[in-house]
Amino acid sequence: MALARQAGLFSLAVRLLRAPRRDLGARSPEEPLPVVRIPRALQRRQEQRKSVCRSSQRPVLVRPGRLLLSARRPEFNQPARLTLGRWECAPLASRGWRHRRACRDFFSIERAQQEAPALRNLSPQASFEDLGLEPRVLRALQESAPAVVRPTTVQSSSIPPLLRGRHVLCAAETGSGKTLSYILPLFQRLLSRPGLNSRRIPSPRGLVLVPSRELAEQVRAVAQPLGSSLDLQVRDLGGGRGMRRIRLQLSKQPSADVLVATPGALWKSLKSQLVSLEQLSFMVLDEADTLLDESFLELVEYILEKSYIAQDPAELEDPFNPKAQLVLVGATFPEGVGQLLSKVANPNSLTTITSSKLHCLMPHVRQTFMRLKGAEKVTELVQILKNHDKANKIGPSGTVLVFCNSSSTVNWLGYILDDHKIPHLRLQGQMPASMRAGIFQSFQKGPRDILLCTDIASRGLDSTLVELVVNYDFPLTLQDYIHRAGRVGRVGSKMPGTVISFVTHPWDVKLVQKIELAARRRKNLPGIASSVKEPLPQQA
Ligand code: ADP
Ligand code: MG
Repeated sequence: MALARQAGLFSLAVRLLRAPRRDLGARSPEEPLPVVRIPRALQRRQEQRKSVCRSSQRPVLVRPGRLLLSARRPEFNQPARLTLGRWECAPLASRGWRHRRACRDFFSIERAQQEAPALRNLSPQASFEDLGLEPRVLRALQESAPAVVRPTTVQSSSIPPLLRGRHVLCAAETGSGKTLSYILPLFQRLLSRPGLNSRRIPSPRGLVLVPSRELAEQVRAVAQPLGSSLDLQVRDLGGGRGMRRIRLQLSKQPSADVLVATPGALWKSLKSQLVSLEQLSFMVLDEADTLLDESFLELVEYILEKSYIAQDPAELEDPFNPKAQLVLVGATFPEGVGQLLSKVANPNSLTTITSSKLHCLMPHVRQTFMRLKGAEKVTELVQILKNHDKANKIGPSGTVLVFCNSSSTVNWLGYILDDHKIPHLRLQGQMPASMRAGIFQSFQKGPRDILLCTDIASRGLDSTLVELVVNYDFPLTLQDYIHRAGRVGRVGSKMPGTVISFVTHPWDVKLVQKIELAARRRKNLPGIASSVKEPLPQQA
């Protein structure tokens, strides 16, 4: 019985094997059956995707000529002769940068010109004399700064209204010579207004307010030699070392004509009645956008309350009842000027001077953006600094500023650079004042040519030797980007500047895309206020 069933199965198998294969069409019996490892639908989709990729990898036509923007992927290069229209959709190199697969991608905004815009378009005949400066002021300028021969654009436009006694708001790009643009005319006005002799406590006739001690020292260093040629005494006043030190600073030169101070130190001195602002003839807020932000606003408002600002220019001319001329200076337009001004003076009395290059990317500085993972940043930085050191051995090269977003990152990164035997200096806001003192000056003079710092070094500090700025942490705002990048490519800089920014977080990518779009369209950076705001309605 079992034998018969086996024979039946065998004959069935033979029949099946001999039967014609309907489903395999013309396949010959010898051909093996295809092995299906991937489902057909998935296979079809993969093939489709490959063909799309192949068509997008068409050879890119690289035309000869200078580039405005060069990218790792050449299809994103933009030639210098091309400018993207305002409404044109831009193929951004940083478009997919939020994805982690974009890591190690990069692009650069190339240098479009060699010299700083502040020195461009100046007629060779432009002179300080024509701006209304007196011979004795010109002589003092020649003695103290022989390299300054012709005025920069911002100096040409701000000196005449300041000499006429106008309140001025001057917003012009970083490194364009704003310090001399207010010091020269204000000193000249001071010469024509003799001081009153009824001084019980130090009563300066001029006040320059700046956001950091380093900047106070720097402005004093520019103003002092000019002042001594004109018989004007200039002093600086910085805090951070207690009241005893402030008392000492003020008692050293009680009859100083001009005081360059930080808001904290001046606020303390006013509260303790160590100084009076009754005799002020002028008051300058340098880096006004920083002075008017939350961290300083309360102090600045108190200082303004204690000084007598002229409601309008006519009030400045009374020699026996001195009122102060107000000057606001910055590289980004300060927000809330209208509100502040409405409290102390007539907003219509303000002359606004803005440069055409305000909030623009500097055309004479190469700016590279590198998309990196957080863990790759240290290696990349060490490499950049070692390359810089090698270049330094071949020929003279400039100094390097490395910006971090916090004091703790500065310290931590410092230890890592120590491990790599890379000599450097550190500057951050949490350092004790005694340690902080003189660090920027020693960086300016050498021998250390690398400074790790936070944004306290991004406002106003001037060194014509800086060649490279590295944003180790990407700045949190576009204003900070402008200020940090403004440490290179200054008027009088000895070498062309470069900025390298590491881009890690999604919020960094958002800012980079705004910068890239502005560069491709050759427009100024968006979202930074650029007009005096309407004053708040006065409360009853
Ligand atoms: P800003 O305040 O606009 O950032 P600074 O006042 O610090 O710029 O000046 C930047 C640099 O330019 C300084 O080193 C200064 O000596 C130099 N400088 C200023 N005015 C002139 C000028 N007219 N000619 C040449 N160099 C100048
Ligand atoms: Mg300045």
